[in-house]
Amino acid sequence: NASRLLGKTVLVTGASGGIGAATAVLFAKGGANVILLARRADALAKVTEACVDAHKQSGLQQGGKFASVQLDVSDLDEVTALWSKVPQELRDVDILVNNAGFVLGVEHVGEISRADIEAMFKTNVYGLISVTQLLVKDFKAKQSGHVINLGSIAGREPYAGGSIYTATKHAVNAFTGSLLRELVNTPIRVTEIQPGMVETEFSIVRYRGDEQAAKKVYEGLDPLTAEDVAEEIVWAASRPPHVNIAETLIFPVNQA
Ligand code: NDP
Repeated sequence: NASRLLGKTVLVTGASGGIGAATAVLFAKGGANVILLARRADALAKVTEACVDAHKQSGLQQGGKFASVQLDVSDLDEVTALWSKVPQELRDVDILVNNAGFVLGVEHVGEISRADIEAMFKTNVYGLISVTQLLVKDFKAKQSGHVINLGSIAGREPYAGGSIYTATKHAVNAFTGSLLRELVNTPIRVTEIQPGMVETEFSIVRYRGDEQAAKKVYEGLDPLTAEDVAEEIVWAASRPPHVNIAETLIFPVNQA
C-alpha cells in the first residue's frame, strides 16, 4: 500500500542517474521526502527538479522535501560528514537505498588494473558499508528503518570478464544477508534487490565511455528500464511493517 510511504524520508545513493534517479522520483511521487546523493552536482540538481515536479503532480500534501547532497560514498570522511550537508528536517531517515555502484571494464583477471579493482571495491562494497553503518546506528536507536541494497544477478552468478564486479556484488549479498540476520527480531528491515540487465549509463561506464560498445550489450534483448527496478524498490519499501522482502531477482523476459 503506497500510503505507507507518505511523509517518510528516503536516502538514495547514486541518485544522479539510472535506477537511483528513477527511484528518487518514484518515492517523490508517492509522497516521501528524498535525500539524493551522488558525485555529480549538475545531474543531481536535474533529478531533484524532477522530484519536485513529480511531487507537485501527485497533488499529495505529505512529503515534497528534497535535498541533493554531492558526496562520494567511497570517501569515508565524506560519508562521516554526511549529516552536515543534510538540512535538519531531513535527518530522520526511514529508508536507505544503497544504490551507488558500477563496473569498470571487461578485462580478464590478469589484465585488470589495481586502480580499477580498488575503485569498484571502494564504492560498491566499502561505500555501501560506510553508509549502512551510519544509518543503522540511527535505525537501532529509534527501532525502525529499512535498508535496501542494490545487489545484482552478478552477486549470484559470476561471469567471464566480470571477476571484480561479481566479487563486489557477492560481497554485497553476504553483507546484506548478515545484516538481515543481525537485525532479526527488530522492526528494522533489510532487502536486497538483484536486477538482471537494466539499460542505464551503467554499460557506458563499463565500456569507459564507448557508447557503441555499450549499446551492443542490449542488442536483441529487451532490457529492464530504471523505472522497472524503481517500482520493485518502492514496492518492497511499502509492504506492511511485519513483512520483510529479503531478496528479489528481477529480469527482462528474454534474459536467461
Ligand atoms: P548508473 O551508472 O546509471 O548509475 C550509477 C549511479 O551511482 C550514478 O548516479 C552515479 O552518480 C552513482 N555513483 C557511482 N559511484 C558513486 C560514488 N562513489 N559515490 C556516490 N555515487 C556514486 O547505473 P545503474 O543505475 O544501472 O546502477 C545502479 C545500481 O544498480 C548499481 O549498484 C549497479 O551495480 C546495480 N545494477 C545495475 C544493473 C544494470 O544492468 N544497469 C544490473 C544489476 C545491478 P555520480 O557519477 O554522479 O556519482
